[in-house]
Amino acid sequence: MNMHGSITRRNFFKSASAIGAGALIGHEVSSPSQLMAQADGASKPVVIASKNGLQATAKAMTLIQEGADALDAVIAGVNLVEDDPNENSVGLGGLPNEEGIVELDASVMHGPTGRGGCVASLRNIKNPSKVAKVLMERTDHVLIVGEGALRFARAHGFKEENLLTEESRQAWLRWKENLSTTDDWLPPHDIETKGIGMNRGPAYRNHGTINCNAVDLRGGISGCTSTSGLSYKIPGRVGDSPILGAGLYVDNEVGAAGSTGRGEANLLACSSVMVVEFMRQGKSPEEACLQACQRIVDQTKMKRLLDEQGRPKFDVVFYAINKRGQFGAGALWSGERFTVNTGEKDSRQLEMPFLFKRGA
Ligand code: ASP
Repeated sequence: MNMHGSITRRNFFKSASAIGAGALIGHEVSSPSQLMAQADGASKPVVIASKNGLQATAKAMTLIQEGADALDAVIAGVNLVEDDPNENSVGLGGLPNEEGIVELDASVMHGPTGRGGCVASLRNIKNPSKVAKVLMERTDHVLIVGEGALRFARAHGFKEENLLTEESRQAWLRWKENLSTTDDWLPPHDIETKGIGMNRGPAYRNHGTINCNAVDLRGGISGCTSTSGLSYKIPGRVGDSPILGAGLYVDNEVGAAGSTGRGEANLLACSSVMVVEFMRQGKSPEEACLQACQRIVDQTKMKRLLDEQGRPKFDVVFYAINKRGQFGAGALWSGERFTVNTGEKDSRQLEMPFLFKRGA
């Protein structure tokens, strides 16, 4: 048992895949390892995404099979989710900050050229991923935020619009009207303090993001992460999604990794670059993702963030692919899913390997 009394570093891969790998959401039953076996060997195209990425992965794979660059393919896929007003964690219709204003974060990274672009706290532009790509291609910068990012987007002809849908506005209003001691403004506290800041009922707060990574027909690897971030955040709060190394990382010689979930934990661990480095050391994508999850567990020390068994109360999820077209994912907690498309069948959702079983 480790310090949290739950699972050892040595056996968590075994138990995670025993418990967590498995059922296909849909008609057939398959497992990540079976699919990975299919993808094993030669470099094959693959697209992986968060659970909201069914359409995105299908779109990206279609483009890749037509010869598109992986970055163009994943951005086109992510745009479908950014444009969807009913997806309340990304782009148009994303849940707003605590003042009712939608602020979007996104990152892109292009393996073949070793370039990246990121925007954070961008208002009024529904496709932050596209702005991030223009930043990568048309400036010497990597990250641009807030008002400057909006001006940059305007300069490049992006259309401004109100991103707050009626549904998101009402959700925000409900939250605002029910504020208690559970917001992000924490009273003075120390490492022993419990019961503040993490009492966020699912009815009021939500996480959500799309991360989508791909290998194209030329072996080019790219990734994109896009989000409206933590709902009802303090204005200007930036999560992991637009930070290369945290919410996304690509190395064309190794693979790509991205993340969804509690951005603060991921910013402190810089986990996506860690996943890529674990893969460079020979770990499979799944092993690398779960090892990054374990690192987050080890690094979380504030008691207000931990449950009675010393496990993080939050979740972080990783999605990874390697140069050979193998894929894998991992989460702190059970119950997550991810999406994959290997070009042979439709996009499918798979249950995600995990460290801790919910309810146990
Ligand atoms: N990681 C995102 C953030 O912290 C949110 C999420 O994926 O749920 O902004």
